Amino acid sequence: MSALVPVFDGHNDTLLQLYRSPEQDKEKLFMQGAPASWHIDLPRARKGGFAGGMFAIFSPSPEKAGLSAPTAPSSDEKLPPDLPMEEARVSMLGMASILFRLERAGALKICRSAADIRAAMAQDTIAAVFHIEGVEAIDPGLDMLDVLHAAGLRSLGPVWSRANAFGTGVPFRFPSSPDVGPGLTDAGKALVKACNRLKILVDLSHLNEKGFRDVAAISAAPLVATHSNVHAISASARNLTDWQLGAIRDTRGMVGLNFARGFLRPDGSMVQDADLDTVLRHVDALLDKLGEDGVGLGSDFDGAQIPSAIGDVSGLPRLIEAFERHGFGRELVEKIAWKNWVDVLERTIG
Ligand code: ZN
Repeated sequence: MSALVPVFDGHNDTLLQLYRSPEQDKEKLFMQGAPASWHIDLPRARKGGFAGGMFAIFSPSPEKAGLSAPTAPSSDEKLPPDLPMEEARVSMLGMASILFRLERAGALKICRSAADIRAAMAQDTIAAVFHIEGVEAIDPGLDMLDVLHAAGLRSLGPVWSRANAFGTGVPFRFPSSPDVGPGLTDAGKALVKACNRLKILVDLSHLNEKGFRDVAAISAAPLVATHSNVHAISASARNLTDWQLGAIRDTRGMVGLNFARGFLRPDGSMVQDADLDTVLRHVDALLDKLGEDGVGLGSDFDGAQIPSAIGDVSGLPRLIEAFERHGFGRELVEKIAWKNWVDVLERTIG
């Protein structure tokens, strides 16, 4: 096996795992080893070459226990219920607190710029970008946005697969077009402009097509979907159509490849395994549509069922090896593994 290639990843839900765990010492849990069913902890991150990524804060819907993706593909899957702002704030702050505690314990560094990420990687410290997936915790007047930015927030998805004050997400529907529901609200449009001004990345994953078009029309930043795949291969509403991929390419934006089985498999099954050949099909298609600068990883670790060939973060070298066997040269492998993310973040957050 070649030397460990560092990976900077577009999306994980490990903060939600830590938040939901009954263990009080979250730092110890992350740094000494989480349950085997989890995907990321420090010992396994080291083994896999995980150098960092966007650490998502996701506030679950009221009566749902987990991330509430269905287990079987359904063409009439409905959106989960709305999440009240006060309720979202409680869990958002809980997860933000865990992120800050992890930094204080030395488990990771919260990065506010591409230079911060490079410095953390050089010091062999996990580079974490503070991301919120679905901003129910932010008021439509955006007061909370300034507070969160000051706390280090550098990336957000206006919506999860849910409707909120800013827009509407796609349901976990298969097969389905992402053109489901209305576009951004006026507050959503103001949010995009504020993110441009504050240099916060706007993540298009989970947004429906009309919302995507609104962001494309308003935003001056590269268009980015942190964890989505190719709709032409797996017709999930969560995946990106050729038009969306073209719009992303036109802004020198990028897409992080999602490892979730249901967004990889041509039949949309969330539970049946997906092999590395299927992963490579998506990567080839993304490279074809976006070019070598437009493709990265967006694992969805700790938020989805992952191909058993990868398993968890310690299995990343097996994916890198598959890239090499597939004929990707060292330069392209490094671009996909981390360089493209750092580059697009540099052009977005500075
Ligand atoms: Zn997600």
